[in-house]
Amino acid sequence: MTSPPALAYAFRRVAYSIHPDDLGSLLPSEPPYRASQLRRWLYVTPVLDPEDMTNLPAAVRREIRLWPFRVVADQVGDNGTTRKWLFEADDGAQYEAVLMGYPRRTTLCISSQAGCALGCTFCATGQFGFERHLEPGEIVAQVAYAQAFLRQIGLPGSPDRLTNVVFMGMGEPLANYNRVREAIRRMIEEMGMSARSITVSTVGMVPGIRRLADEGWPLNLAISLHAADDELRSRLVPINRRYPISDLEEAAKEYAAKTGRRVSIEWTVMDGVNDIPEQARLLADIARRIRAHVNLIALNPTPLSTEKAPSREAMDRFVQILRDMGVNVTVRDTRGRDIDAACGQLRAERGRRQPVSIG
Ligand code: SF4
Repeated sequence: MTSPPALAYAFRRVAYSIHPDDLGSLLPSEPPYRASQLRRWLYVTPVLDPEDMTNLPAAVRREIRLWPFRVVADQVGDNGTTRKWLFEADDGAQYEAVLMGYPRRTTLCISSQAGCALGCTFCATGQFGFERHLEPGEIVAQVAYAQAFLRQIGLPGSPDRLTNVVFMGMGEPLANYNRVREAIRRMIEEMGMSARSITVSTVGMVPGIRRLADEGWPLNLAISLHAADDELRSRLVPINRRYPISDLEEAAKEYAAKTGRRVSIEWTVMDGVNDIPEQARLLADIARRIRAHVNLIALNPTPLSTEKAPSREAMDRFVQILRDMGVNVTVRDTRGRDIDAACGQLRAERGRRQPVSIG
């Protein structure tokens, strides 16, 4: 008689969804040291397939379900140095992660929510609305999956380990504070990552910034500003109506003072919207007041957005104004232009071809 493996798989408990201290509950008939071995496989030397957990008995390996998702799309871009995954949970919720390889570092951009409620006008995720928060295990599993991928498959010309994690995928991490906090705790305490290699990016959840400043972790904080006056910002980033720029500046200063970390400002440059000299000057003033580094990235237009990427001349002029006003500025590369690598785009693209029903 054939058993129904797909069904059994769906109902098995997922290792990353269990708190690391409770892993023994997955292996009730095994001696306690098996839970420690499993913990190492999950967090210290992650593997893509339970079969690769070589010091666990075959019967145990067969029973373990590692990942809280299926990989429903796996795109390769930039000559193999960018990898983008679309994950799908058992309830149909989809979320994305992008792995980018460079000669001396690897950066993983992860999601903290499936969808997002904040509705920023230029963002593919925002255009889809909110599905649900991701659980700590779903967040940390993205990191472990990339770590396992780098160890076992790798990106050409890049280190075989993850060096940086950024919360810049789908969702607003500080709107899912407690789960994100537990995921970060596992990255630091279980996986051994340095807090300095983790960046939390927020569109300006001021209370969350204040809480994060008190956690005692020197995490990098990136403020996704995108506009330097309240009128334009409230239009592009609606949460600005609740937490205006002046409040955000105060919270950013407080964060820098408490953690000793420099804050960065992220600015998605949009043609004719926020690439004008007046915005550059106002941005420079803010950046100087909070001593922030500015990262500019040209908009990667989404299938539904009306905004466009800036012209080369407008981008150069914008950069020049910031530099002339003494601001440190980096123009970030637009990785994944050949795949759907902007936040939410792969899901948007799949969503158009194949609507997702949420359970
Ligand atoms: S930019 Fe971030 S906060 Fe705004 S809608 Fe997109 S995911 Fe949400």
